[in-house]
Amino acid sequence: MPELPEVETIVRGLRRRIIGRTISSCRVIETRILRKTGIHNLEKLTGCKVTAVERRGKLILVHLSGGLSLVFHLKMTGQMLLALPQEPRDKHTHFLINFRMMDAELRFRDVRKFGFICCLETSKIFTEEPLKNLGPEPLDLEYGAFSELFVGRKGRLKSLLLNQAFLAGIGNIYADEILFQAGLNPLSPGSSLSEKEIFRLWQAMRTVLHEAIKKKGSSLRDYRDAEGRKGNFQHLHKVYGRESLPCPGCGTHIQRIRIGGRSSFFCPQCQRRISRSSS
Ligand SMILES: [Zn+2]
Repeated sequence: MPELPEVETIVRGLRRRIIGRTISSCRVIETRILRKTGIHNLEKLTGCKVTAVERRGKLILVHLSGGLSLVFHLKMTGQMLLALPQEPRDKHTHFLINFRMMDAELRFRDVRKFGFICCLETSKIFTEEPLKNLGPEPLDLEYGAFSELFVGRKGRLKSLLLNQAFLAGIGNIYADEILFQAGLNPLSPGSSLSEKEIFRLWQAMRTVLHEAIKKKGSSLRDYRDAEGRKGNFQHLHKVYGRESLPCPGCGTHIQRIRIGGRSSFFCPQCQRRISRSSS
């Protein structure tokens, strides 16, 4: 699933190409990917100009003149691709936007069809689904505010990091990489962390996410940027997807466990359980 670094890379790519462009038409090929909220707004898109493209958590927001915004969630296998109309379009392309005076069209492609699109009034976007319950942006958080998130949170670190109402944008890959970088065990309760450990986690989160954005995300299976290119951060994963391989820090075999139904990779030596009571 594309996470914060991948979505940020797509957003930056789209920004360069579509800001200031006017929509000449849009076409829904598979209606299942449309959320019902604001569905009537889709008819109003022709003639609207793209004023901004931004990311919130794992969502892509395309703001338009006329007070409307398109929201895209890529979920497991969604892609936003700029392609020439003559380039072959496969059966997984579900939505198309064409722009005036622009060769390329914007395609929403999604093999598994868990992704979705909705068209909302920009003024209400942050108070409606799917944005209203999102937690803070990891890279916008100062240390003090980050530290407060953990007060009284008995949930396991891995589950907290994956919880989009707790922090928006982190998924399975980056949660594991961040916890490794911080030297923290994925099963430790959030409220059990010392100030020092929370600071390490905050620093690790920033380091890993910034580095992954710099490498244009991780391409394990489907992820491609808006120009169809793969990311490069997968080559720098230290624990994710590396079960039984040696830990880059100490050589111990990386372990894989299930937490909340998701695979979690960690080094049992570098990320030992904290046995302190969570008072
Ligand atoms: Zn290790």
